[in-house]
Amino acid sequence: MNVDDALARVLPDFARLPAEIIALDDAYGRILASDASAANDLPPFANSSMDGYAVRAADVASASQAAPVSLRVTMDIPAGSAPQAAIGAGEAARIMTGAMLPAGADAVVPVEQTDADWRSGSPPSVGIWAAARVGSNVRDVGEDVRAGAVVLTAGTRLGAAALGVLAGLGMSQVPVVRLPRIAVLSGGDELLAPDEPLAPGKIRDMNGTTLAALVREQGGIALRLPRMRDTLASIRAVFAEALAMQPDAIVSSAGVSVGAADYIRTVLAELGEVGFWKISLRPGKPFAYGKLNGVPFFGLPGNPVSAMVTFDVFVRPALLRLTGVADDATMTEAIAAEDIPSDGRRSYVRVRLRREGGQLYATTTGTQSSGAITSMVMADGLLIIPDGQRLARAGEAFPVRLLR
Ligand code: AMP
Ligand code: MG
Repeated sequence: MNVDDALARVLPDFARLPAEIIALDDAYGRILASDASAANDLPPFANSSMDGYAVRAADVASASQAAPVSLRVTMDIPAGSAPQAAIGAGEAARIMTGAMLPAGADAVVPVEQTDADWRSGSPPSVGIWAAARVGSNVRDVGEDVRAGAVVLTAGTRLGAAALGVLAGLGMSQVPVVRLPRIAVLSGGDELLAPDEPLAPGKIRDMNGTTLAALVREQGGIALRLPRMRDTLASIRAVFAEALAMQPDAIVSSAGVSVGAADYIRTVLAELGEVGFWKISLRPGKPFAYGKLNGVPFFGLPGNPVSAMVTFDVFVRPALLRLTGVADDATMTEAIAAEDIPSDGRRSYVRVRLRREGGQLYATTTGTQSSGAITSMVMADGLLIIPDGQRLARAGEAFPVRLLR
């Protein structure tokens, strides 16, 4: 099965999770569940962008340092107060940055362009040294956001700036998509916990840690479960425990290759419908997908690189559908800097990228063994050799999935 056909069978099982309302200050990194429209203008009133004097531009049209225009100062408007009166012809109001423009004024002259000493408070009159255009140093009402406008659309990941907008609009409670809860399972008699000493024949479980981190990277909660032994009883028990947590999906690694699949196959068949697929994908050919008691199940290959690549290709887009975020996988194009052999399956080759004369060149990270996890640490991206191609020639351009 090719990757696209496999994805077409997987993705329809995933729809956006329901919304929950949380406090604005807890919403960093969360996904907005509905469009946010502005309840007020931003700024809510015309205000001064400088410390200075609010004036009528027409009054100071001829002002210069050689021939200052003298205006009567009728008010002092600090930030946070509402002006009590309008200004009339020949009048000015002392005004601070962020303070509300009084009626009658249409411009602000910065204090530096007047003869006033800002620190000595409000003078009876002020000499204006420069002309001002209508609107000078004035931030208009609604200049940033108009009341009623949609400012953020559903599916937006709430970063610092977006949260600031919501704060400015008074949205102290925010509807966000519930976090996906993904059970992460590892299995194999050879596996030890990372804190266990090595013993002959044993390796430490890397996939549990890596897959849980990938889940978090996509904004999900990883539910960790005990490692499964290669026995029916152990596999049954851990899957039962995983299902009892009512996850939105289960992701397990290992036990899907032909030699290894038997116990897993038996248990999966007891719990639901799972297909064992041979995907035209390298690394990561053995792959299982189906539903266990209605919960989507991904059986990823055991080799750590294969597990990571199949996660990126299949699990990641599914998680994005759960959160309602548009796929934001960063793709680019790079020129193979060396011949890279393939075998006709769609290949994801770990490469380092270097920029030269406005072009990206890709060199493999060395061993492409699907067990060599350090190759993923070194890789800037995965160069994709399409289905059917057996050699990527040096000098040819290929799509690259950027990993950083
Ligand atoms: P299997 O699918 O069980 O045959 O596993 C394929 C390969 O992946 C074997 O070399 C396993 O030792 C290795 N492997 C399986 N699970 C893990 C894991 N959690 N961490 C690191 N390597 C693993
Ligand atoms: Mg195994």
